[in-house]
Parts: sequence; C-alpha cells; structure tokens
Amino acid sequence: MNTQTPTHEILDALIIGAGFSGLYQLYRLREKLGLSVKVMEAGDGVGGTWYWNRYPGARCDSESHVYCYTFSKELTEDWNWSERYPGPGEIVAYLNHVTDRFDLRRSIEFGARVAGARFDEENNCWDVELASGKHYRARFLITAVGCISSANIPDIEGLDSFAGEWFHTGQWPHDGVSFDGKRVGQIGTGSTGIQAAPVIAETASHLTVFQRTANYSVPARNRALTDEDRMTHKRDASIIRELTRGNTNGHGWRISEQNALETSPEDRKLIYEKAWETGGLKFRSSFADLLASKQANETAASFIKEKIRQIVKNPETAASLADIDHPYAAKRPPIDTHYFETFNKDNVTLVDLAKTPISKINRDGLVCQDIGANGSFLEILHQLDTIVFATGYDAITGTLLRMDIRGRDELTLREAWSSGPRNHLGLQVDGFPNLFMVTGPGSPSVLTNMPAAIEQHVEWISECIAYMLEHEHTTIESPGASAEWWVKEVNDAANATLLPKVKHSWYLGANVPGKPRVFMPYAGGLDRYRDICQQVANDSYRGFVFDR
Ligand code: NAP
Repeated sequence: MNTQTPTHEILDALIIGAGFSGLYQLYRLREKLGLSVKVMEAGDGVGGTWYWNRYPGARCDSESHVYCYTFSKELTEDWNWSERYPGPGEIVAYLNHVTDRFDLRRSIEFGARVAGARFDEENNCWDVELASGKHYRARFLITAVGCISSANIPDIEGLDSFAGEWFHTGQWPHDGVSFDGKRVGQIGTGSTGIQAAPVIAETASHLTVFQRTANYSVPARNRALTDEDRMTHKRDASIIRELTRGNTNGHGWRISEQNALETSPEDRKLIYEKAWETGGLKFRSSFADLLASKQANETAASFIKEKIRQIVKNPETAASLADIDHPYAAKRPPIDTHYFETFNKDNVTLVDLAKTPISKINRDGLVCQDIGANGSFLEILHQLDTIVFATGYDAITGTLLRMDIRGRDELTLREAWSSGPRNHLGLQVDGFPNLFMVTGPGSPSVLTNMPAAIEQHVEWISECIAYMLEHEHTTIESPGASAEWWVKEVNDAANATLLPKVKHSWYLGANVPGKPRVFMPYAGGLDRYRDICQQVANDSYRGFVFDR
C-alpha cells in the first residue's frame, strides 16, 4: 500500500464493516467509552451480509426473536418482527432502525472499501487505506467483516462466452432479477440453493438444479408471527437472553440431553417426526449425541433420507437427492420451504453432477460430461438463459485476506496464515498489535446464532480496550505460544465431533481451490468459549502481552 499519502483523520478506533458486528462495536466504543470511532463500509447502506444477499428465497435460519441484539431493553421493546424467520429486507430495516435509534450513521462512511492496513511501529497505530486512496490512522483496528462476505465463483471454462446473464447469490442485484419465461440453471445445493430453487421455479420456464453433493434439509415452517407471539417474546426477553448467552449454539432452545442411541427406535422416530413438524434448526438438537457419534447421527440421517424418498415422486431424482455422503449437520444444515417438493414440478430437473460432471460453459449454456460404460465421453448441453451461482463463499478468512493487512516487520496476514488461520481466542493474531477480529476464525461464529456470538465478542473487545485505557497500556498483542495453545483447542474441539469428516465443507475451507484445509470455527460451544474468554480477562488478559 501507498504509505506516502497524507493522513486524512486520526481516530481512536476504526471498524471495518457495518453489519451486526460493526454497528454494535461502534455503539460500545463511541457511546460507552467515549472514543473517536469510524466505521468503513463498502456498501451504500448498513446490513453487512444481508445488504448483499437478496437472492430469491433468502431468509435467515435463526428465528427472528433471537436474531437481534439483546443489549438494549428499549430496542427489544420497540421492534416488531413480522415472521418466524426474518428475510433480508426486514433484517436490513432492523439494522437501519438500530443505526438511527443510536445515532450511529454519522460515524459510518459508506462506499468506503478498505484496501489495506499497515501497523506503524513508530507511532503504535494503524494506517488504513481505502480503495479510493484515502487514509485514516487509528490506534485500534477492528474487523467486523462477517464470515460469508466473499463470493466463491467457480472457475468454469467458458463462462465469459455465455450469451445469457449470470449472477452469484451473494452479489444479488438490488433491483432484482426476472426469471419470467427463462431457462435457469442453478449451481449449488447448500443453504442458499435450497432456499432459492423453489422461488426461482415459480416463474422460470424451466429450472435445472446442478447438484454436486446431495444435502440434507428440514422444513423451516416459516409463518407470520401473531401479536401473542411478539408479546411472549417481549415478556420473556430476559429469559431468552440468558438462554442464548448461556448455551452452546446461541439459539433460543437447549440441546436435548437424551442420547439417540439410548432411545428406542419407536421413540426416536416420534421425536424426529415432532422435530420435522416443528421445523427449523432445532431438529439438529433432537438428541445430545448427533454430532458426537456416527451411529447416532445415522438415525437422523436415515430419517431425513426416508422423508426425501417419500416427498420426491421421480425415483431416480429421489435417489440422487437422498444419496448424501456426509453425516447430518456436519455441514451447515439447511432449512427450506418446499425444496424437495419443487422437484415434483414439471418445469424442474435435477442434474446429478456426481454422474455427469460439469465440463464447461459455452454460449448456449452448461455442458456436462456423461462417461459411457465403455469409457467414452458424451457431451450434454443444458441450454440456459440465466445461470445462478449458489456456490457459497470463501468463508471466514476470505474477506480478511483480500485486504492487504500488515503487522510488525511488514508481516502480511496472508503470510501469517499461509498454512491456515492462527490466532489467540479467535481474537488476535501474533504480530498484529491492537487488531481485533469479530467472529474471526477460531471463534464459535457460524456454529452459533450469529448475533449471540457477535455480542460476546464485541463486549469482550470493548472491555479489553476499557482495561487498556484504565491501565494506560498502548498496545496489546498475543504471542505465538498463545496462538499455538488456541489452535490446538480449536482442533481438539472439532475432532471431538463429526464436523471435520466432510469432503467439501466450507468450515474446512475445502470448497475453495488452494485454500488450506483447517477447521476454522471453534466447535466447543459458545457457553464454554464465553467462559474461557472471561477467565482470560479476569486473569489480567492471560496469554496477551501489553506494551511489548
Ligand atoms: P455452500 O453451503 O458452500 O454451498 C455451495 C454449494 O455450491 C454446494 O452445494 C457446493 O457443492 C456447490 N458448489 C460449489 N462449487 C461448485 C462447483 N464448482 N461445481 C458445482 N457445485 C459447486 O454455500 P451457501 O449455500 O451459499 O451457504 C453458505 C452459508 O451461508 C451457509 O452454510 C450458511 O451458514 C449461510 N447461509 C445461511 C442462510 C440462512 O440463514 N438461512 C441462507 C443461506 C446461506 P459441494 O457441497 O459439493 O461443495
């Protein structure tokens, strides 16, 4: 980065990103600590992930009454959610409401993409450069860039030659896309693809879903909330808050303490049927041992596979959809609205890429290869007007590494993480003083209801900065030994579960060619993580070093 450009403004803290994390971090540092703070946001509005993700069918899989902040009773009182799961429009409206209610907008610079940041060792501060060339200096740099904000667009030969339109779900045009009368091809059947397909199929003349790996899904059972629901959520707000802060996953329920393997097959089926009818991610919490034991997991997996075979009428399509190669919930488990039912429509076709892999894209559509019994290749052209890439993200580290962040001795974050992310408590990287990451790798983040994890991180960082001010510390950093300890904790926590046992999981970075395969989130639970972070703080920030 250009270090000669004159500095525009000197701040106590600069925050990157105006989603859930960045807004709350701004509030805590500006309103509670009285610091001079600015948020740099690449988009033209607040919302983070939800500002960009406006694809058809997009909806959060956390329930609305927990997919929100809990730090202000008044905020909880004056906001009314309309549905069980909020869509992007309502989440962005909520975050705009928060922004205005706490007068945050005046501290946010929109259309401000951070290109890089360099730690100035002489002055103990960060020199932050925007893509526009503008510079800021800040004592603390806090990344609040979200976990799924860098689109993963597969490098398929010939995309440039495609005569139709193509879109990635995470960069969806804000004025929408019309599928009326179009032949649409959707690549990807993760949480996004499973939400998008039923909605695209409503207006497309034909939808072809290209499935590389079959996936589980459980009905979301979205519905409008009643006045009574809202009243109950508000009345019980403090109980719900304690629950989301004190459990493993940050959701508004506890994981059952009952083991699947200690339950009779008849009772197990009843429990799964009830969870299927209730809908949502709670299905995953039906038994305590689902993510710990392959055999226990198999009971949930076979229940869902049986449901798929019952719903989907074409036996060949049903077989491809139910041919799932990984344990249930070892990848992020999607929830849907009529996903499997969509394949019963006359205008919807499934292409099983395990049988006919994609070979290229040409002017007219997507070309797959059929390998004949004698080893001969047959090319199959799927004619398309529109291609939708529901192919996920360079998750958790992607956005952090796209910026040119340099710590002590010009060490870049890319170099520091060349074999995978390493940090202390998911919060700080060796050699990068006064840089904090909200929901970065090594923290519970995507394995939880995100706002619960975000509040914990933001509060910890804010208290740490308050401690530094009180004790007149200039810098905080974490030595390599602390990262070594924490990386081992993260690996041990993951290895105690079935989570790393998946071929293409984005939790492992395995969906992006060349990305180091490291299990990135902390799987030991938000409750345990909160306790560890609190103990570290209580012990005068054990494992961190001040004023090196
Ligand atoms: P994803 O889970 O990574 O799924 C991407 C899909 O694209 C997978 O089916 C993948 O197949 C396929 N794919 C990737 N590259 C491909 C290629 N070159 N050829 C063919 N297929 C390819 O991404 P996502 O669905 O966008 O979801 C990402 C995360 O966002 C979720 O796990 C969730 O955390 C979050 N999300 C949440 C919600 C919600 O709150 N309801 C909604 C959407 C997303 P493989 O499985 O074979 O890799």
